Amino acid sequence: MNTIDLIVPCYNESEVLPLFYSEVCAVSEKRSDFDFTFIFINDGSKDSTFTVIEELAKQDTRVKYISFSRNFGKEAAMLAGLKYSTADYVCILDADLQHSPDLILEMLSSLENNPEYDVAAARRTDREGESKFKSAFSKFFYSVINKMSSVDIPESAQDFRVMRRKVVDSIISLPEYNRFSKGIFSWVGFNTLWFDHENRERAAGETKWSFFSLLKYAVDGIIGFSTVPLKISLVTGSAVSLLGILYALYIVIKTLIKGPDVNGYPSIICAILVLGGLILISLGIIGEYLSRIYLEVKHRPVFLIDKTNIQPK
Ligand code: UDP
Ligand code: MG
Repeated sequence: MNTIDLIVPCYNESEVLPLFYSEVCAVSEKRSDFDFTFIFINDGSKDSTFTVIEELAKQDTRVKYISFSRNFGKEAAMLAGLKYSTADYVCILDADLQHSPDLILEMLSSLENNPEYDVAAARRTDREGESKFKSAFSKFFYSVINKMSSVDIPESAQDFRVMRRKVVDSIISLPEYNRFSKGIFSWVGFNTLWFDHENRERAAGETKWSFFSLLKYAVDGIIGFSTVPLKISLVTGSAVSLLGILYALYIVIKTLIKGPDVNGYPSIICAILVLGGLILISLGIIGEYLSRIYLEVKHRPVFLIDKTNIQPK
């Protein structure tokens, strides 16, 4: 029998989980030749999400869960699910039903029929149910990261995807602590078949992303997949120094020809402010990379598990 694991990160999703479970069950019945397993990751929810998951596990042996000791973030939840998955095919999808469960079957059969493809991934065609500000910010972020990084990260790509076992094994072989999955998915390669997917409104509950968490996600993505910011400070620093040297030469020549000039206080202040600013920015950029290196060398686990009903592989 073919097998597929559904990885579902959940953070405060108690309202939507019963609905999610019944919709996905209905979808799974259409493919009776497949063994479906749910892997719910309770990412330190503060509501009754874990109780709901435990109830589901009591009713249905296909329901597996991993419950974290605290909130580690969606990236950690996805990694835990991938690490504990054993099926031939693995699907990642959100609990809020924004990722239409019907598409799982389409993605799955496309992989069965096209052996040359290893990943079937959803990309959104619209940004329904999202603020204009968030959409604009996200567009800007992807244009920046794609210019700076050598891996291509499509703006519309979602985490919603079905992958073959070998792709999952490749993803979990990357040991980094600071995980930016969209970059990792592109970095590991493999042929990807894209599915256009209309974003639906959340079925219940609310989004977990604030502006600052999105900003942090964007910085993590850029720092994790590009060293260009380090070069920006080198290039601007060099350009400003060159201008400074040219200006100094100009002053020396002017002084030799016209005699000393007591004015010039404003230009000195400007130079100090601009240069001081550039130095601080450069230090800040180096600091961002250094802090990532610091976290990586500590070799801390990406997540800690409190309870699970899955036997480790
Ligand atoms: N999520 C998670 N940990 C977090 C934040 C979110 O596991 O710290 C889960 C959440 O339960 C949902 C998915 O990640 O299943 C996407 O989150 P959300 O719907 O809030 O994001 P959005 O769709 O607004 O981008
Ligand atoms: Mg959502």
